[in-house]
Amino acid sequence: MQLWLSLRQARHVAQHRSTVPEEFSDKITLQEHQKAADYTRAKGSFGRFNLLLSASILLLWTFGGGLNWLDTVIRSFEWSPLTTGVAVIIAFSLISSLVDIPSSVYSTFVIEEKFGFNKLTAKVFTIDMLKGAALSVVIGIPLIMLVLWLMESMGDFWWLYAWAALTIFSVLMMWAYPKFIAPIFNKFQPLEEGEVLDRIKTLLSRTGFNSDGVFVMDGSKRSSHGNAYFTGFGKTKRIVFFDTLLKHLSPTQVEAVLAHELGHFKHKHVFKGMILSMTMTLAGFAVLAWLMKQDWFYTALGVQQSSTYMALLLFILVSPAFTFFIGPIMSRWSRKHEFEADTFAAQQSDSGELISALVSLYKKNAGTLTPDPLYSAFYDSHPPASIRIAHLKQLGLNYN
Ligand SMILES: [Zn+2]
Repeated sequence: MQLWLSLRQARHVAQHRSTVPEEFSDKITLQEHQKAADYTRAKGSFGRFNLLLSASILLLWTFGGGLNWLDTVIRSFEWSPLTTGVAVIIAFSLISSLVDIPSSVYSTFVIEEKFGFNKLTAKVFTIDMLKGAALSVVIGIPLIMLVLWLMESMGDFWWLYAWAALTIFSVLMMWAYPKFIAPIFNKFQPLEEGEVLDRIKTLLSRTGFNSDGVFVMDGSKRSSHGNAYFTGFGKTKRIVFFDTLLKHLSPTQVEAVLAHELGHFKHKHVFKGMILSMTMTLAGFAVLAWLMKQDWFYTALGVQQSSTYMALLLFILVSPAFTFFIGPIMSRWSRKHEFEADTFAAQQSDSGELISALVSLYKKNAGTLTPDPLYSAFYDSHPPASIRIAHLKQLGLNYN
């Protein structure tokens, strides 16, 4: 299904490569349009290769007996069940991360490089990887230990405890991420005085929004793709702009982009997303609690001996194949939020400025203007450019 969707996307983009869609013809040149098409197709074909590769690796781990082998090796040390479990999960993650390195290198230094987006040097790439590994050790291992311990010692209702622990952990991360983790990878500096900051301050007070500050992140250290986002919650909410975004947008466009982001906050999209993911985690744990008691769950997936940690590992490995089919529902939900945020932006700032900012971002990021509708329905968290802009134009007529 994923391959078929990806092929559809490639075909659709190729078919529309020769002409810029009419509504963009005065803003985007044929050359820019074709670059977007080529970039989309290059990422797509590498994505299909990766899809086949990761499916083969998954089959090797399960039916191929990889997990069973790993389990047998680590069990032979005769550690306690908890230590054995943690060791199996660490060994598995380590092997998987090593296997992933070549494709990450290719995507960064071949594809992104070819289209002029990559700003990473081999040095920064390596340091990032080591920092990421250190973080997984510091944060990931205690978390796995906690979850495995709860699974083993809390009886039939362990899944409620594990769910509560994971929920507390994710709230904690929302607070800790902007303060402690993001600064490990990037520099954040307060936005300098000037027209952009003045416009932002006016917009914030007009919409009654409090924040912990407006920051510029050195995104250009890694990529020339631009973005803006909010992190944290409550009083630690921060507004973060990539330096690459500020470089390419005018002050009025930045204001419009921020108004869109504020729209997400006003409509409580972050909060709703948290509730949804908490509900899904709870459902996931409940399913896992049932599955881990079924012998066929292990044997059918190539593991001979049942255990708590193997149930957890198998579940994490295999569940994406099933949750894939709720993708379109999630994407639709997300696109609905984008429309709501756009409506808010049109009320609070200039919808025309948001349109021109969007066009400029599509141009800068070489995003395709002509996605396959079915592919887009499955994967796109944002509405396709033409639909989104038509919606904004309509709002502009209503509000101005
Ligand atoms: Zn948005």
